[in-house]
Amino acid sequence: MPTALVTGVAGFIGSNLADALLERDYEVIGIDNLETGQRSNLDRLKTNNAFTFSEGDIRNRGDVESVIEGVDYVFHQAAVPSVPRSVDDPVTSTEANCTGTAVVLDVARKAGVENVVVASSSSVYGSSEKLPKVETMPTKPESPYALSKYYAEQLAMQCSELYDIETVALRYFNIFGPHQDPGGNYAAVIPKFIGLMLAGERPVIYGDGNQSRDFTYIDNAVQANILAAERDVSGEVFNVACGGRRTINELVETLNEKLGTELDPIYDDPRPGDVRHSNADISKAKTKLGYDPSVDFEDGVERTISSLQATEQN
Ligand code: NAD
Repeated sequence: MPTALVTGVAGFIGSNLADALLERDYEVIGIDNLETGQRSNLDRLKTNNAFTFSEGDIRNRGDVESVIEGVDYVFHQAAVPSVPRSVDDPVTSTEANCTGTAVVLDVARKAGVENVVVASSSSVYGSSEKLPKVETMPTKPESPYALSKYYAEQLAMQCSELYDIETVALRYFNIFGPHQDPGGNYAAVIPKFIGLMLAGERPVIYGDGNQSRDFTYIDNAVQANILAAERDVSGEVFNVACGGRRTINELVETLNEKLGTELDPIYDDPRPGDVRHSNADISKAKTKLGYDPSVDFEDGVERTISSLQATEQN
């Protein structure tokens, strides 16, 4: 069975991906420095004997070298995420997302890894008027985070040109689902709103709420990662999304409906760096990867609510 290294394994996407790889009988090695990751995600993974965890920092070459031996695929998820966080603290995002990615790619290619899948972001497109966003469109990163993800994906692309290693970059569009942290200042909108609304609190919307996102359930992102590694594809960037969009106001309506609540949002000033609309064309991933998003927005929201409710009861 193949061996995979998952960077950022204590995080939301990394831990869900590790779950899926273990289910497919992969040996999984995980690395994380717990900057934004959660120990509860590691506790879950550690119950499987095919999982090994190393606490380490991807900016540190020795930490990455210590976990690379025998690895076939690297799923590079580690990063300091969040647009607003990068606006508050651009240095931390840049170091983790740019330097960290350079270290991971360099160590991987020197160790003879077959394929590195790099997590990129829809934020690289910026707020262009044209929708849906397609991979051939010009990019326009509008925050330190977006710029760092653009650097990471382009470095990965360059690596496949310069060296004997396959690389794929996945531009994730608002991934959500179980094991995503609902707390803290920089929490993603879906777990944050569900957490607040389950507690009977009104969610805060930055701006008028008519900004829209292509919300994508985690299982779809996991599927795209596995296809990107296992298929014979290299030097390519793919959108990973559902191909639809909802406004933040619609999100609150859906949550009220599913939670049986009637909580009106509180409106606050828009946040700098946030893009207005986000909606992906996913035809490239469908054609070249065989990607087929299997869980839609409504179903994904229901599963996420159930998971957060179960966590609160424990
Ligand atoms: P997350 O914060 O849950 O996971 C990121 C993980 O990386 C955390 O466990 C964190 O501790 C770890 N990490 C950070 N810096 C590190 C370092 N220097 N060394 C080792 N580990 C480090 O975030 P996530 O939502 O799971 O995001 C995973 C990846 O997907 C990131 O690369 C992010 O930029 C990208 N992404 C996510 C979304 C989304 O909607 N969730 C959208 C676009 C892109």
